[in-house]
Amino acid sequence: MALVGNPNCGKTTLFNQLTGSSQSVGNWPGVTVERKEGMVRGEAVTVVDLPGIYSLSPYTDEEIVARDFILNQRPDVIVNIVDVTNLERNLYLTTQLFLLGRPIVVALNMMDVLEKKGEHIGCKVLQEKLGVPIAPISASKGLGIRRLMDCVHRVAGTGSPNKLEIFTGPVQTALESIERSISSNCAKGDIPPSFAAVKLLEGDPPMERTLGLRRDQLSRIHHWSEEVKTQWGMDCEMAVADQRYRMLCSLCRQVITKRPVVGIPLSERIDRVVTNPYLAFPLFLLVMFAVFGITFGPVGSWMQDTAASWIGAFTKQVQVLLGQWGASSWSIGLLCDGILAGIGSVVSFFPQILLLFFLLSLLEDSGYMARAAFIMDGPLRKIGLTGRAFVPMLMGFGCTVPAALSTRTLDNARDRRTVLWILPFLSCSARMPVYLLFASAFFQRGRVLLIFFLYFLGLLVAILSALLLKKTVKDEQESPFMMEMPPYHLPTLRGIGIHLWDKIKDFAVRAGTILLGATVIIWFLKSFTPALSFTNDSSQSILATIGGILAPFLAPLGFGDWRSAVALLTGLMAKESVVGTLGVLYGATGGSGNSLLLALRSAYTPLSALSFLVFVLLYLPCVAAFSAMTREMRSLKWTLAAAIYQLGMAWTVSFAVYQTGMLLGLG
Ligand code: GDP
Ligand code: MG
Repeated sequence: MALVGNPNCGKTTLFNQLTGSSQSVGNWPGVTVERKEGMVRGEAVTVVDLPGIYSLSPYTDEEIVARDFILNQRPDVIVNIVDVTNLERNLYLTTQLFLLGRPIVVALNMMDVLEKKGEHIGCKVLQEKLGVPIAPISASKGLGIRRLMDCVHRVAGTGSPNKLEIFTGPVQTALESIERSISSNCAKGDIPPSFAAVKLLEGDPPMERTLGLRRDQLSRIHHWSEEVKTQWGMDCEMAVADQRYRMLCSLCRQVITKRPVVGIPLSERIDRVVTNPYLAFPLFLLVMFAVFGITFGPVGSWMQDTAASWIGAFTKQVQVLLGQWGASSWSIGLLCDGILAGIGSVVSFFPQILLLFFLLSLLEDSGYMARAAFIMDGPLRKIGLTGRAFVPMLMGFGCTVPAALSTRTLDNARDRRTVLWILPFLSCSARMPVYLLFASAFFQRGRVLLIFFLYFLGLLVAILSALLLKKTVKDEQESPFMMEMPPYHLPTLRGIGIHLWDKIKDFAVRAGTILLGATVIIWFLKSFTPALSFTNDSSQSILATIGGILAPFLAPLGFGDWRSAVALLTGLMAKESVVGTLGVLYGATGGSGNSLLLALRSAYTPLSALSFLVFVLLYLPCVAAFSAMTREMRSLKWTLAAAIYQLGMAWTVSFAVYQTGMLLGLG
C-alpha cells in the first residue's frame, strides 16, 4: 500500500505508527526526494511513504514521483491521508487520485484537533458521497489505525468504486469526447482513460508523450479545450480546478458542522484591515520600515557600540595579560591582531542582527508573514513570479542557503530558477556587518537611510533581473496562488526562542570555523613576505601580492587598493569575512573599534565606500550559498551563468555609482 497526501497531513507520522522500526530510507532515483518503505507491524504488507503533494500535475519532482509510482508500480491500495482541519484543500488531491482507478481508502487524520476545535465531521455522509471507505484516525495519538487496516484489507484487490461526479457542462462534454478518442492509446499504455482525459484537457505534455498521441488527436484535444475556453471564460486548467473547488466547497459544507461562532472571529477582523486592497500595501511598507528603523536606528546602534567597546576592552586585557606572561610577540600578534581583531569586528555587529531576526520572527510567528505573501502575490506576478516566492525571498534576507532550499516549495521549475537567480541580490544578514562598519565610519547620520537604500537597491536589481529572465526565457505554465492563512496568534516565547537560538548556533559555528580559519590565514599571509620572512609592513606581504593582481580591475570602481581586493576575496568564504579581513588589515594593535574606523576613513572616501558597499551587495554569493544554488538549480551551467551575471552586475552598478559621483564632484 502507498500513503498519499498533502505535505504535513501526517503521512510520516502514520507511516511510523504502522511500521515501527522496520523501515528503510533512500532517495527516489534521479531526484532529491526522500523514499521511505517498510512493513506493517505484524502483517505481510509493504507500505511506501510517498512525497507530500497538492496535485498530480507534473510540475514538481514530488508530483512526478508520486504519480509515476501509482501508475507504474500499481500499489494494491492507496491510502489517501486527509487533514480534516483543512478538508477542502486536502480533498482536492483526493478527487485527482480517484481518477487513477486504484483501490483507495481515505484516512481522515487529525481527528483529535478537529474535536478540540469543537467541530464535527459526518463520516457516514462523506463515505456515502465519495463512495470509498473512510477511516477517521489520529496518527500522532495512534487512534483508529486498526480500523484503517481493516478497510485496507477490504478494498485490496477490488476495483475503484468511487462515484464522485465533479465535472458538468462543457468540461464534462469535452472530457467524454477526449476519453473516447484516446481509449486505444490508454489501453496500450495501461493508463486510466478518465485520468488521461483530464490531464490532456489541462494540458500535460508528459501525458501526451506517454500516450504517443497522433497529430490529429492532439489537434482535436486542442479544439475541445478552445471550446471550453470560450464557453467557460477561462482556460481549461482553471476551469477544471474551479469545478473541483465548487464541488468540494459544497461537499464540505454538508459534512462539517462547526461550533456556532459568536460574531466575526478576531483573525478575520484583523484580516479585513491588513489585507484591505487600499491599506495592505502601505501597511506592509510601514511594518518593514518600522523593523528597519528599530534595527538600524538608535536601539541597534547602541547595542553595537556597547558590544564593540566590550570587545575592545577584552582584547586590551588579553594583550596585557599575554605581555605579563611573557608570550612571544608573534603569538600576541596572531591572537590579538589576527583572531580577536578579525572575529571581534564581526561579533560586535551580531546583537544587531539578532534584533532584526527577533523582529522578523515576531512577524512570522504572529501570522503576518503569510498575509504579506498574499499581499505580494500581485506585485510578484508582474515580474513573473507568484506570491509563494515571497517566502524564499524573505528568507533570502536572512541567509541565501535555507532560502535556496526552500525554493522546493515552488510549483514549477521556472519559478524555482527565477527565484534562485535573484536570491543572491537580496541582502543576506552576513552582509550587514559590512554595511554597519562603513556606516559608522562614513555615514553616521544617514545610516538608516543608507542601509534601507542598499536593501532596496538589492531588491530593485533582483526585480529587474527577474523581469529580464521572464523576457528571455520562454514561458511555461503559471500556477494559481494557494497558501494557508494561519490564524493570528500571539507569538510564543518558545517559537521565537527557537528561531533566535538557531541563529546564534549558526553564527557560533561560522565564527568558530570559516571566520576563524579565514582570519588566521589572512593574518599569516599579511605577516609574511613571499620569501616567508616575518614582516610588520603588510604592503610587503604575500597578501599584498595577491590583492595587487586583482586591484587594477577594481580601480575604476574607486577602491583599487589591494586590501579591498583581498577583503572581497575572503568574502567569498563568508560575507562577514569582509569585515574580519578589514579588521585584520586596517585594525591597529589593540583592536579597538575606533582605530579601524579612522584607518578606513583615510583609505576610502565616502563615495568609494558607497561604491564598495554596492559591490559587496551585488557580487558573488559565498561558497555555501553557491553550492546550495547549484544543488537546487540542478544545472551547473545555470549556476555559472548566474555567477557571471552577478559579477557583471556588481561591477557595472558600482562603476555607475562611482563614476556618476565623480562627475558630480562628490569624490
Ligand atoms: P507529512 O509531511 O505528511 O509526512 O506529515 P508529518 O507526519 O511529518 O506530520 C506533520 C505534523 O502533523 C507533525 O508535527 C505531526 O506531529 C502532526 N500530526 C500528524 N498526525 C497528527 C494527528 O493525528 N494529530 C495531531 N494533533 N497532530 C498530528
Ligand atoms: Mg513526511
